[in-house]
Amino acid sequence: MLVYNSQTHKKEELVPIEEGKIRMYVCGPTVYDQIHIGNARTFLAFDVIRRYLMYKGYQVTFAQNLTDVDDKIINRANETGRTAAEVAEECSAAFIEQMHRFGVLDPDIRPRATHEIEAMQEMISTLIDRGYAYPVPSGDVYFSVRADHNYGILSGRDLDQMRAGERVEVNDEKRDPFDFALWKAAKPGEPSWPSPWGDGRPGWHTECCAMIHRYLGTPIDIHGGGADLIFPHHENETAQAMCAWDSALANTWMHTGMLRVDGEKMSKSLGNFYTLKEVLDKYPADAVRLLMLQTHYRAPLDFSFERLDGVSGTLERLQTCARNLRWAAERSPQDGELNDVDRALGHAIDGAREEFCRQMDDDFNTAGGLAAIFGLVTAANTYLAEAADDTSTAVCLRAADMLCELANVMGIELDRSAGDDDLPAGLVDLAREHAGYEGDSASEAADALLAARQEARAAKNWGVADAIRDGITALGLVVEDTAAGARLHRKE
Ligand code: AMP
Ligand code: ZN
Repeated sequence: MLVYNSQTHKKEELVPIEEGKIRMYVCGPTVYDQIHIGNARTFLAFDVIRRYLMYKGYQVTFAQNLTDVDDKIINRANETGRTAAEVAEECSAAFIEQMHRFGVLDPDIRPRATHEIEAMQEMISTLIDRGYAYPVPSGDVYFSVRADHNYGILSGRDLDQMRAGERVEVNDEKRDPFDFALWKAAKPGEPSWPSPWGDGRPGWHTECCAMIHRYLGTPIDIHGGGADLIFPHHENETAQAMCAWDSALANTWMHTGMLRVDGEKMSKSLGNFYTLKEVLDKYPADAVRLLMLQTHYRAPLDFSFERLDGVSGTLERLQTCARNLRWAAERSPQDGELNDVDRALGHAIDGAREEFCRQMDDDFNTAGGLAAIFGLVTAANTYLAEAADDTSTAVCLRAADMLCELANVMGIELDRSAGDDDLPAGLVDLAREHAGYEGDSASEAADALLAARQEARAAKNWGVADAIRDGITALGLVVEDTAAGARLHRKE
């Protein structure tokens, strides 16, 4: 499997540090506001990268921080008459809520900067002891880029060239304009913690580095973020790790291209942004995912609502195909020998999975992966037309399951039922009673009921399991337990 490493500018074979396991970290948001869809693009890209690694059988440990102390949070608190902690708490909850709506899996570990002060102070002390950092009279502590001969290793920047172009600030306590704050002395009214260098708070670059060391150990396999973080954030992160622990921070550095509007990077400061929340209020999450995944994660992504409108039909095509396959499976006559038409779809199913993996193995080419999924949609639609009333239940189900399986790697959830039209509405009430379901879709209710029944059976809660089955039977359906899980049938 080839992965592009931003440090070496090459695609490299992914060789996990520990066999079968991947430890990865993606810088999280600064929680002072709703995130915009540019941020969301980066989080989505790594969600799919993580999902694909899991699909390939890796045991993935995924950590992502919340930067919950920062100038932006403090400013927002002052503007709105709240405390920084209140702003951070509210925006963290909003971020997690929007990630759930977007279908992004929760990280395994979600450290918050304000809970990790001790780990950061430990790292800063080590850097001072080793001569890579220095406290100044005001109470700040700086990392000395001059002391680190490897500085620039990630971004390929040369300090001397950068210095020549830099206007040095007057009255600066820094020894070099590129020295960065590991610890910032407290200003009145700001959140602060006691430290050997006086009350203060950690610098942003310090946070991720200390958390990675504490929760994942260094080096990790994959460190990710948007390309705008390469310099200075990731350069500074890796400098600290090398100088504190003589260890690279990550073996592979992965960076996403910027989401743009009218050719310009989407950012809060330019004011050209749409929040993820406002977009998900208007469009299904899967349509937004589909649009974003049509572009390779490293390429810039040009966003427009016209493009988003255009993709809705594509998503519909995929969902309808899976539904039609299940519909046909339910109505197929008893399976006899497979004929040539059945076998052709069988080959298309295997071929689609192979092609999907070939594309994704090449630096997570999601555009190619989607093309493989839609290739199977085309083959399945041709099959349904050709086979007419003589479809094979087994082949139809296998095709539908493969569409679900591959779409799921993209985080796109396809309906596992044959569609709402032919399911009795009574399922909704039944699911409300037994499965805590709150919506009003019969197919979702069917899924919820099957899941609740499965759970009850696993817990040997036979009363509940039987009540669900009896309720389903009373609606004229039967529950069939297959190797691929339970499904609902209409009674013959
Ligand atoms: P921030 O909260 O600004 O640190 O951003 C959170 C994540 O979003 C970082 O990984 C950024 O690199 C990324 N990001 C910010 N703007 C964009 C954009 N326009 N397109 C893609 N990723 C972005
Ligand atoms: Zn970071």
